[in-house]
Amino acid sequence: MTTSATSNVDQAELAKFNSLASRWWDTEGEFGSLHAINPLRLDWIRQYVKLAGCKAVDIGCGGGILAESLSASNATVTAIDMAEGPLAVARLHQLESGLEVDYRQSTAEALAAEEPGRYDVVVCLEMLEHVPDPSQVILSCAELVKPGGHVFFSTINRNPKSFLFAIVGAEYILKLLPGGTHDYSKFIRPSELEQWARKAGLELRASIGMHYNPLTKEYSLGPNLDVNYLMYYQRPASE
Ligand code: SAH
Repeated sequence: MTTSATSNVDQAELAKFNSLASRWWDTEGEFGSLHAINPLRLDWIRQYVKLAGCKAVDIGCGGGILAESLSASNATVTAIDMAEGPLAVARLHQLESGLEVDYRQSTAEALAAEEPGRYDVVVCLEMLEHVPDPSQVILSCAELVKPGGHVFFSTINRNPKSFLFAIVGAEYILKLLPGGTHDYSKFIRPSELEQWARKAGLELRASIGMHYNPLTKEYSLGPNLDVNYLMYYQRPASE
């Protein structure tokens, strides 16, 4: 891997994910919220894309929660992460689940250099807010997808409400996430994500918010993008 392909990595972030890796598949543990939102985000993706038979890549896959679901939906799945711990856990879990995923330690930038235009579907969820330069990851996702292919991002908006909900509420009051999981300054406004994606040649198709109700302890999707949100893009078919 070249230096430029590995430079868009925050080692402190990887250390955080490495230290918690063994907890990845505990639905009551630190990554419980990823388990809770997984069926919602999978359903949303499937509204737009028929996954069966697709070649999909999961960027920043962690322990493989979504990667396994994509595989269970009969996509052929490559999944990359830069943290060794979560990748090791993902490979172990795969033995248990029997779901086939090609896990690799790589960055979006390095994979885009190796396999440009090779994927029908690129997913990059809950990852952009952990890298030094998210615009570079978005560009690499646009390079990885085939013309006419589909790209999904999710991240957290940056405004006073998201600070209150995603940091104070989620990390310190409700303790849905370990304290220090997220850095407010790394949150991304939908308009910023949209600007980077457009620059990368992607066209916005849909967006949706993800909400947590502390009373019912349930997540749901809805139109409000104030805190957590997903965006769906397509690379134009002809260029
Ligand atoms: N996408 C998964 C996991 C999100 S947690 C899900 O939503 O279920 C964020 C993941 O991004 C962590 O596993 C972390 O190791 C990974 N990550 C952070 N920076 C990265 C980078 N530059 N390249 C690849 N993976 C990265």
